[in-house]
Amino acid sequence: MPVSYAYILVALVLMSALFSLTFLMAWRTLGKKSYTLSWSLAFLAASFQWAFTLMSDAFPSFEVYWLTVNAFGLVVVTLNLRGHCQRTHCGILPNSLWPIAALIYASIVWTTVASPQVGLGTAILPGVAAITLFLSAIMVVRHREKPRPAEIATAATMIVFGVAQLTAAAVTLFQGPAGNDFLQAVYANIIFMSVPAGYTGIAIFVLFMVTSDLSEEMKELAIRDQLTGMLNRRGFGEQTAAAYATARRTGRPVSVVMTDIDRFKQINDKFGHAVGDTALQRFAEMVQHRRRDEDITARIGGEEFSLVLPGADLDEAMRIADELCKRVEATPIRAEDAELHMTASFGVATISDKDACLGDTVNRADRALYRSKRDGRNRVDLESSQMMRVADGTLRPVSA
Ligand code: GH3
Ligand code: MG
Ligand code: MG
Repeated sequence: MPVSYAYILVALVLMSALFSLTFLMAWRTLGKKSYTLSWSLAFLAASFQWAFTLMSDAFPSFEVYWLTVNAFGLVVVTLNLRGHCQRTHCGILPNSLWPIAALIYASIVWTTVASPQVGLGTAILPGVAAITLFLSAIMVVRHREKPRPAEIATAATMIVFGVAQLTAAAVTLFQGPAGNDFLQAVYANIIFMSVPAGYTGIAIFVLFMVTSDLSEEMKELAIRDQLTGMLNRRGFGEQTAAAYATARRTGRPVSVVMTDIDRFKQINDKFGHAVGDTALQRFAEMVQHRRRDEDITARIGGEEFSLVLPGADLDEAMRIADELCKRVEATPIRAEDAELHMTASFGVATISDKDACLGDTVNRADRALYRSKRDGRNRVDLESSQMMRVADGTLRPVSA
């Protein structure tokens, strides 16, 4: 083996061991994700694979050396792909990869021992590595609608590294069964030039992907209410800003319904806090019933909820609020042997030219909600600026 290869192999052993340790630490500190552990084990197997390659002369025969190194190589590519299956929930059962790896290993044994063929025997591992890299790249970018920068970088590195592996596989396949020194040297050069950069690039970008997963999870936790899974006040603020911008750009209306459970304190006092919590969850389900994709629903406070309805004018928002008001009144809540009935009050407002942000519309809906509380509860009201007095003296929505 040329001395330059030996240096590269020593570097690969150390790099792989360090990356294995890094992913183990990532597993411990970044939420104990099983895929981080798969990747840590993949790099551990890689450090053995390269250590055995370095010690090739110490093996009793070429066959024993070749089968050992290929076994570790297959474990590396299988664990790498397994990690991506686990992270993306792509539908492939992560453990179903092992029998496939065993079959591939059987073909390596066949081309090494039973029917020795230098070209094919050498091409199988880089060929399989290329396929698993391409599959992983597809999983990573198709995992969500819009891939994140870390995912694009990971997938791009995998594709480039995969092309290098595929080229190496093709070159060595051309050797044919008997082998060819020149092609074998080209193959080795491609492998030794591409593996250090491929490993480093993939390890760094995958780690970046793991940390950005975690930061996304944290962001999601920060904007969600734990009890109902709905947006909290903060998430509501963020999403309504976008809804306001869209409404202004497109000229479509957007309406806001604010609702608050009536005399909820009495429910807590009479049935206990746990039953109160269940009642809040059932109420949240009713608020989200028939929610369209673009609607924003949130738990703004204790027993106060909000619906933002893009595209809905005042009449439609009133109709939705009315329907919800009746549904709440008609739906008994069962929790811990108790059955209770509750009602809620609603305030509705639609965006006007004077609103500088959706918060202004929300405030008007809130004022309407107070009006509804004051005028007897279990009803839907509009804020006074959105009402007009008609001939018979009653108040009607301006848009009606
Ligand atoms: P009103 O009809 O005027 O709205 O009367 P109310 O009793 O519903 O309003 P009030 O603001 O006096 O009481 C709200 C109650 O909601 C008080 C608080 O203990 C309860 N609450 C707030 N958050 C939670 C929660 O997460 N779980 C439970 N069980 N109760 C909560
Ligand atoms: Mg209340
Ligand atoms: Mg309240």
